[in-house]
Amino acid sequence: MNRMSDITEALPPHRVVPFITEEQIQHRLQQLGKQITEDYRDVHRPLLLVGVLKGAAIFLADLVRSISRPVEFDFVAISSYGKATHTSGEVRILKDLDASVAGKDVIIVEDILDTGLTLRFSYLMENIRNRHAASVSVCVLLDKPSRRRVPIEVRYCGFRIDNHFVVGYGMDYAEQYRNLPYIGIVEISE
Ligand code: 5GP
Ligand code: MG
Ligand code: MG
Repeated sequence: MNRMSDITEALPPHRVVPFITEEQIQHRLQQLGKQITEDYRDVHRPLLLVGVLKGAAIFLADLVRSISRPVEFDFVAISSYGKATHTSGEVRILKDLDASVAGKDVIIVEDILDTGLTLRFSYLMENIRNRHAASVSVCVLLDKPSRRRVPIEVRYCGFRIDNHFVVGYGMDYAEQYRNLPYIGIVEISE
């Protein structure tokens, strides 16, 4: 069994500075849940939330519980564009939806929207639209607008943040810290 220090010592020296508290996250989630409940109040079609693995798993789990109307959820996995600067065609859907989206109102749930390249070049939205979803919109926990390289229309956003590398509440640094109940900023020590 690895000790925690063995795992984190393999990474560059760093620390995680608390940024958005558990209370702030939960408070904002209640507002988002209310807003989604309101927006789909008179819609009599199934509402399907699609989480992008793995970062959005915890956000989605809490978000569905803040929505007071029937809701379904599913997950997709998208390959990362890694260090590539030229991206077109390099992002793929690794795990597809389990069930049909035809006739459903779909909300794609992402942990964080940064450059926008993953969503754009996975063609996830186009793909879901082509399968005759009634509508497709995007919900992100965090948005870093200053980093955007391609425009993405975000309908629901938890917090707009500056350009920090964040972890916790589902988000990782080399697969670590996803289990933090709050969001922290990773500071690499020189
Ligand atoms: P994008 O393609 O919009 O640049 O970013 C896509 C994905 O990169 C995000 O959904 C997220 O998984 C990851 N990412 C971007 N910024 C951060 C960050 O600050 N922290 C972590 N942990 N992941 C990030
Ligand atoms: Mg993500
Ligand atoms: Mg990651």
